[in-house]
Amino acid sequence: MTMTSAIEADPGDMTATPLRHPTLIGPGFGSDAAGDPVTPTPAQSLALLARAMFRQGMCDGLAGHATFRQPNGVLLTTPHLIGWDEVTAADICTLDPDGHQIAGRWSVPPALQLHISLHRSRPDTVVAVHNHPKWSTTWSNLGRIPPTYDQTSASFTDEVRLIPYGGPVQETEFADDVVAELAGASTALLANHGVLILGSSPAEAFWRCYVLQWRCQMAWQVEAVGSGTLFPSDAAEFNKAIVDREFGGVFPGLFEYVARREIAADPRVLS
Ligand SMILES: [Zn+2]
Repeated sequence: MTMTSAIEADPGDMTATPLRHPTLIGPGFGSDAAGDPVTPTPAQSLALLARAMFRQGMCDGLAGHATFRQPNGVLLTTPHLIGWDEVTAADICTLDPDGHQIAGRWSVPPALQLHISLHRSRPDTVVAVHNHPKWSTTWSNLGRIPPTYDQTSASFTDEVRLIPYGGPVQETEFADDVVAELAGASTALLANHGVLILGSSPAEAFWRCYVLQWRCQMAWQVEAVGSGTLFPSDAAEFNKAIVDREFGGVFPGLFEYVARREIAADPRVLS
């Protein structure tokens, strides 16, 4: 209904300022069994993020955790001992701003101290994802930032920071060190460990995780074959400016697309 109304409202409005890109109209998160549009709750969004990450190969057994800070300061988190390919909205746990669990039927990940320290020191952080994706962790283990060889890899040009390994992040001391090393950045390779990626929404966090993973895989493949041609830095800045200016910094519709796939594959993800 909304899509039809939007289309019908446009033709007679000749005074509207032309857009370089027309308003994007797409299926969003799809429709439920009754035909009503799906608008995920925060817990559903976090479950969908975990499922989509798993499907993209950004997983390592039961390791990893993702948190979603709510406007009142409470944190939603993926649970411990539940795979990212099986988590549902009802599995999502809730912590108060000090990190005490206040809701949820499962335990929270023991290494969640990293996120608690992070959200406490950077209240602007809405979503934080930590895990051990194989391609990104390859570069973490190499102790190198992967070069950018292609347009997708250059889709965001924010700094990727390499943070030295200090110790297991379930220890407050080491978690605080990682947070301090990340200051001013949103994306990090944790040396000999994995990744830490921040976003202003589940969609932005997924986009950054996706691009980093893509960049890491492409760089590994290019360097395994021989030498490639680096993507021009000025073109990367140009592309980023387009995505930032016209799409709010996120490839439009990507998270909705991967979420639709998860909902179609297993509607229980929303339950
Ligand atoms: Zn880890």
